[in-house]
Amino acid sequence: TRVDNPYAGAKVYVNPEWAANAAAEPGGSRISNQPTGVWLDRIAAINGTGGKMGLRAHLDEALKQKGSGELVVQLVIYDLPGRDCSALASNGELGPTEIDKYKTQYIDPIAAILADPKYAALRIVNTVEIDSLPNLVTNVTPRATATANCDTMKANGNYVKGVGYALNKLGDAPNVYNYVDAGHHGWLGWDDNFSATVQTIKQAATAEGATINDVQGFITNTANYSALKEQYFTINDSVGGKSVRESKWVDWNRYTDELSYAQAFRQEAVNQGFPSGVGMLIDTSRNGWGGSARPTGPGAMTNVDTYVEGGRIDRRIHVGNWCNQAGAGLGERPKAAPAAGIDAYVWIKPPGESDGASSAVPNDEGKGFDRMCDPTYTGNPRNNNNMSGALPNAPLSGHWFSAQFQELMKNAYPAL
Ligand code: BGC
Repeated sequence: TRVDNPYAGAKVYVNPEWAANAAAEPGGSRISNQPTGVWLDRIAAINGTGGKMGLRAHLDEALKQKGSGELVVQLVIYDLPGRDCSALASNGELGPTEIDKYKTQYIDPIAAILADPKYAALRIVNTVEIDSLPNLVTNVTPRATATANCDTMKANGNYVKGVGYALNKLGDAPNVYNYVDAGHHGWLGWDDNFSATVQTIKQAATAEGATINDVQGFITNTANYSALKEQYFTINDSVGGKSVRESKWVDWNRYTDELSYAQAFRQEAVNQGFPSGVGMLIDTSRNGWGGSARPTGPGAMTNVDTYVEGGRIDRRIHVGNWCNQAGAGLGERPKAAPAAGIDAYVWIKPPGESDGASSAVPNDEGKGFDRMCDPTYTGNPRNNNNMSGALPNAPLSGHWFSAQFQELMKNAYPAL
């Protein structure tokens, strides 16, 4: 039987492979004992690829780490057909129509391993298909932000079917907790995106045999950089009779940060019929924004823009920037039940792993080249044609990026 919050009273699995990469960096041993997500980002990752641990190897190691207490293992289910339709850097191995392969060669084998009685004492948290369903709301025709690939995935229904199938099959084991991707405030915090996303998630959670009881919660900010708390302004502030919602940075969003967004998202999900016990996770691995550029007080009250620009913690050029952001730091360390409605702060994106290459790199992982990872790129409608803000010289997504790891430690908030 499931507990309300799997993180309560439990340790969380430390991925030895990430820990070794972190510990090999100067200063890295300060954080190498932190739990991070295990990304099952291709079929071959289930058995282990290129000398890396497969799913059973991780779960066996998790049993050792568990000892006699409780332990959460954090898996990332991430191999949908036509994966990441609005960003090329994390495109996957399956083409838009390969839903059957997704079911039989990816989800079924994972579900079989998770249901092995050997692992019944572990609390297994799945974050389910990052960057999928919200794309069906925001990045489709007739929006200016539409991409051809997202139009395809909306029309063929394979994101909805894939997520439904995953929730249904993975949810069969009673020690499994599914958390569905809820984007982040800088993506879905606008009125025309917010409740429509919950509707789309509900559609998926009732497709392919899934029910809303296969959903234990939602995760925000996965692999993103949105600040947890904008402590120097709130959405209710105004300057000279103008709401901060009219500032260039906020641009009519209803939310300024992830904590307020995650709590509101939970409420909207419950309003739309999800169980009242659903809980939120927030990925705080890279949203610290500490270091010397961090504001120490509110911005000047000259107008809404000076006020917000001077005080904002999130120092991105634009909130739609997502690739290897310059200036970012480690955020809150992983923590259970940190705030109302929040099951945990988690590090799902392993700090130090790239979001995408700065230039085209041939590879056999299905990864494309997305210019949002190129620091010279001047943008597209999804970041309102701003500079990408990406660090230079980055390797392929998922590959170790030492310079980023060092910067994340340097700009950690709370500081290390
Ligand atoms: C990549 C995955 C990788 C993950 C974690 C994603 O952006 O596409 O291959 O496992 O990041 O670093």
